[in-house]
Amino acid sequence: MSVLIVGTTALDSIKTPKAENPRLLGGSASHAAVAASFFAPVKLVGGVGEDFPKKYIELYRRHKIDLEGLQMLPGKTFHWSGEYEINMNNRRTLATELGVIETYSPVVPKSFQSAKFVLLANIAPALQSRVLDQLTNPKFVVADSMDLWLNIALADLLQLLKRVDGFVLNDSEAQLLTKEDNVFSALKKIHKLGPKYVIIKKGSHGSILSGPRGFFICPAYPLHKVVDPTGAGDSFVGGMMGYLSTAKGSIDANIRRAMVYGSVTASFCCEGFGLNTTTKTGRTQINQRVKELEALTKF
Ligand code: AMP
Repeated sequence: MSVLIVGTTALDSIKTPKAENPRLLGGSASHAAVAASFFAPVKLVGGVGEDFPKKYIELYRRHKIDLEGLQMLPGKTFHWSGEYEINMNNRRTLATELGVIETYSPVVPKSFQSAKFVLLANIAPALQSRVLDQLTNPKFVVADSMDLWLNIALADLLQLLKRVDGFVLNDSEAQLLTKEDNVFSALKKIHKLGPKYVIIKKGSHGSILSGPRGFFICPAYPLHKVVDPTGAGDSFVGGMMGYLSTAKGSIDANIRRAMVYGSVTASFCCEGFGLNTTTKTGRTQINQRVKELEALTKF
């Protein structure tokens, strides 16, 4: 089984208290696709501009990501820049330049339309819906989003949530969406919007799943040094979907373990700028950290 991933394929300029890195490969779909590629074949749907560096196309190819759904469009690639505070948790968006995404309409190639596992990574919710419209019979669809879309495209997002199996968001976004401070009350409210599986991410404190088999608290891998957490959420959900798409058995039987694999994949993302460390890792290192997490959480 492969995973179909749509989202932003971007250039990121990232500032931390220690360094500044312009025009790295970023975007929700790039992070999620590379993370998923450790577990399953990936089909990417996205749009880039004429300025998108060839070396980033080669990087996707090294991860065997199917690029038939990546459109090259006239104009500039989506560009995001952000700055982290000293604690590396608080982040400020400095600029979001939509570029080609402003007029982009995703086209799902024929050979992708029968995809069973679908990740609608962070991008405008209307575009996420347009991808769903083109699929024949998906088995498990998960959507991610962010505060920007909650603020400027809430109606589109609420429409989308009625059509997905799972929804992943971070704790501040859950609060913004539900007006609930308590994470468990927020989870309950989000189920009422449609999704059967809701995951709230809590950064270095892990994540919480609410699903048909109740709650699951998924730990984050303990890192001593975070270099750049950009894309950690996307790596988490990408790794989770990659793992799920190849696991035997039901979603319910596998989703907890899938989250742990996603969490570990995200830990590699945090250890380098952009995708620098994620691309250097592999299944052996991922499996090793999963074992460590298992030992750390057993009681
Ligand atoms: P995360 O750190 O998981 O929130 O993801 C950061 C990634 O999201 C970066 O690589 C950005 O390029 C991308 N991004 C930032 N803003 C947006 C947006 N409005 N829509 C979609 N992707 C975005």
